[in-house]
Amino acid sequence: MNLAHLLLRSARSRGEHPAVYLGTELLYDYTSLATRAATLARSLTELHGLQPGDRVGLFMSNDPAVLEILFGCWWAGLAVVPINPKLHPREADYILAHSQASLAFTTADIGPALAGLDAPTSALRELISVEQAGYAALLRGREPLAAPVERRGDDLAWLFYTSGTTGRPKGVMITHRNLMTMTLCYFSDVDPVQPDDAALYAAPMSHGAGLYSLPHVLAGARHVVPASGGFDAAEVLALGRHFGSVSMFAAPTIVRRLVEQAVAQGEDGTGLKTIVYGGGPMYVEDIQRALRVMGPRFVQIYGQGESPMTITALSRQQLMDTRHPQYLARLGSVGVAQAAVELRVTDAQGNDLPCGETGEVVLRGDSVMAGYWRDDAATAQTLRDGWLFTGDMGSLDAHGFLTLRDRSKDVIISGGSNIYPREVEEALLHHPGVAEVSVVGRPDSDWGEVVVAFVVASEGAQLDPLTLDDVCREHIARFKRPKEYHLVDALPKNHYGKVLKTELRARLAAKPAP
Ligand code: AMP
Repeated sequence: MNLAHLLLRSARSRGEHPAVYLGTELLYDYTSLATRAATLARSLTELHGLQPGDRVGLFMSNDPAVLEILFGCWWAGLAVVPINPKLHPREADYILAHSQASLAFTTADIGPALAGLDAPTSALRELISVEQAGYAALLRGREPLAAPVERRGDDLAWLFYTSGTTGRPKGVMITHRNLMTMTLCYFSDVDPVQPDDAALYAAPMSHGAGLYSLPHVLAGARHVVPASGGFDAAEVLALGRHFGSVSMFAAPTIVRRLVEQAVAQGEDGTGLKTIVYGGGPMYVEDIQRALRVMGPRFVQIYGQGESPMTITALSRQQLMDTRHPQYLARLGSVGVAQAAVELRVTDAQGNDLPCGETGEVVLRGDSVMAGYWRDDAATAQTLRDGWLFTGDMGSLDAHGFLTLRDRSKDVIISGGSNIYPREVEEALLHHPGVAEVSVVGRPDSDWGEVVVAFVVASEGAQLDPLTLDDVCREHIARFKRPKEYHLVDALPKNHYGKVLKTELRARLAAKPAP
């Protein structure tokens, strides 16, 4: 089934209901959103000659037009290629070339740099900025395409380029069935949605926030693109108060900033119904503080492009169940498998490991990608016998709660023992003067690798290696303690806020051991 049917259904059953806002200003109801998408579908096929299956790029800042473009493309049977707007135009050009997109939409703030690239490699016939008259013309003067073009569950809906903390990004082939599965799991495992709820797009719509537009379209809920186009903590709190019942996806760093702002304003996030966090590790200290300040507004998900937003979830109830004997362990976990997912933890040979032992997280289910676009070798390495090998290391407990350790490539092997950087990071974060920390391994002739911590101090805090070492002694085995501490102003991060451990390792390689 074509995902565009979700929009058609809401337009038929609740056409007058408000659909899209820019800030607090209502732009369209569901009837107009569907008409715009269906007219765009007609223009893309008749005027631009696109055929079902063709790819369309979206190199756009968060903008209300993203919604009608996503659904308009699906309506026409096309596949979308959303690209993080913070990428360098050359990186966007690589993705457009690799995905063989023939047309792309853009916004005026970033489009010109892409259009102005010399010697682009992509073979774009057209780059259409949504602010220009040419775009408005695509949405007028043509009969809307009455019904979405027929698509099967296996057909490509979204080519998701991985955030690429190493090497070139790969194009994850996400099908209509994958996203339908993600949508239904949102209701069963993350949060039920009511028509009066509002999805707030404070994180890039090219990633999780945009994927989560789907359950909100199916529920006929409201969609709010903040006037700033991105994340501004004070604006998010104000939009929460204005709309009430707001849901949003946020990476852990964004949650931390939101909590700081709430504290500064003496607020508790009233009006924010659900903050779905994930995409990177949320440390126990941080989520405890968030719950203290803002209360039961949080749900955690663990997913990856290869099984979009849909591997495990830690529910609102589980996050609030403070009296459970395993409460703290559960807070540090990513919860239990979502409804559509079968989950295992395996050793290097693919055998199941007993509870409590750490191995690679593997899964199967209808949320799992079809493979990597034009990359059979990577597909064969990642999808084996119908199972997705995530590259994440973790362990399951007897109740099915998964605790992630680290990506397999981030595990440090020192003196033959595996050390999971996350455990050392959690230990160091107990120190109130530590704002952020990232732990990596440095090659060492004696030990194989030694543990090195990069630490960002909280404002005004004075840190020294001895006190940091004391904190580690209190919480973790001696052999896991960092041998070196580097105090830095900030950690290098990619455009989704993930720490670039590869860059930290490169810094160490460039500097001899002290
Ligand atoms: P991406 O494909 O860019 O969304 O990145 C997915 C990766 O982010 C996963 O394979 C995990 O390593 C990490 N990740 C996602 N969600 C979580 C989470 N809730 N906790 C810890 N790591 C996460």
